[in-house]
Amino acid sequence: MAILDGKALSEQLIDSVKEKAEKLHPTLAVILVGENPASMAYVRNKKKACERAGIEYREYKFPDNITQESLLQKIKELNEDDSVNGLIVQLPLPEQIYVPEVIRAVAPAKDVDGFHAYNIGKMFLSPEFEDLPPATPLGIVKLLDHYNIPIQGQEVVVVGHSNIVGKPISMMMLNRNATVTTCHIYTKDLSAHTRRADILIVAVGKEKLITADMVKEGAVVVDVGMNRNSEGKLCGDVDFEAVGKKASYITPVPGGVGPMTVAALILNTIRATERQNKV
Ligand code: NAD
Repeated sequence: MAILDGKALSEQLIDSVKEKAEKLHPTLAVILVGENPASMAYVRNKKKACERAGIEYREYKFPDNITQESLLQKIKELNEDDSVNGLIVQLPLPEQIYVPEVIRAVAPAKDVDGFHAYNIGKMFLSPEFEDLPPATPLGIVKLLDHYNIPIQGQEVVVVGHSNIVGKPISMMMLNRNATVTTCHIYTKDLSAHTRRADILIVAVGKEKLITADMVKEGAVVVDVGMNRNSEGKLCGDVDFEAVGKKASYITPVPGGVGPMTVAALILNTIRATERQNKV
């Protein structure tokens, strides 16, 4: 078993854009609502990555009781601000906010999280149209590519069908000519599917959902889940110890997909800035 080291690759990717950042002076604006500890930790990592890459980082903090109207107003302002190249609204948002409207409000050209329907729709066409793909799926593809893991013709099984991970990574795998199965909470016999996977990608949010008997010998296992176990430690959706013994490659949690998501956000910010400057 070998580890897919997302932490090391993430640092390498972030360092690789420094020269471009020096020329382009990109700016990333981050809207943070409330004080959700996980969101605050994610945002801290994004800030650190921007600093490392040489991207200007601007944070806009709002209290939990912000109205939909004020939030949309701030997004509009940042959309129109030419000094801002990338704009993200950290999720989750409080109950009174209607998330689809917030996602729709971000200008597609600045949507470096890749959540807007315009960017998602383009992604359906082919890899060449994945201009600003969602950050986590882009991070996963970069990780597989770095380790020269073939995708074409492989059986890829994705567990989870969210709009930000499961569905877009399924599409990106299909774009690369994998045979893709997407499983979710209503899948009848999950292990019948996971056992066929050459590449198994799990994005559910349930500790130890994937056990060793559900994985084929030699499979590549990508664990997107981020959970806290009974001891409060960060863990994924895969039983790492047992599955690791069968897998050819596996991502650790932490240190796998998480840092790759941050690196992908940095790559998207550079991409968005280049496109805005017609580079
Ligand atoms: P979500 O929380 O929106 O949805 C969960 C998905 O899992 C759904 O598609 C649901 O149908 C499926 N599911 C639930 N129970 C299941 C079961 N028993 N069997 C099969 N499928 C089941 O999904 P999300 O936002 O993609 O998040 C999933 C996990 O990934 C969470 O732990 C989240 O914290 C983590 N995450 C990590 C990163 C990262 O950068 N590492 C990024 C995004 C999300």
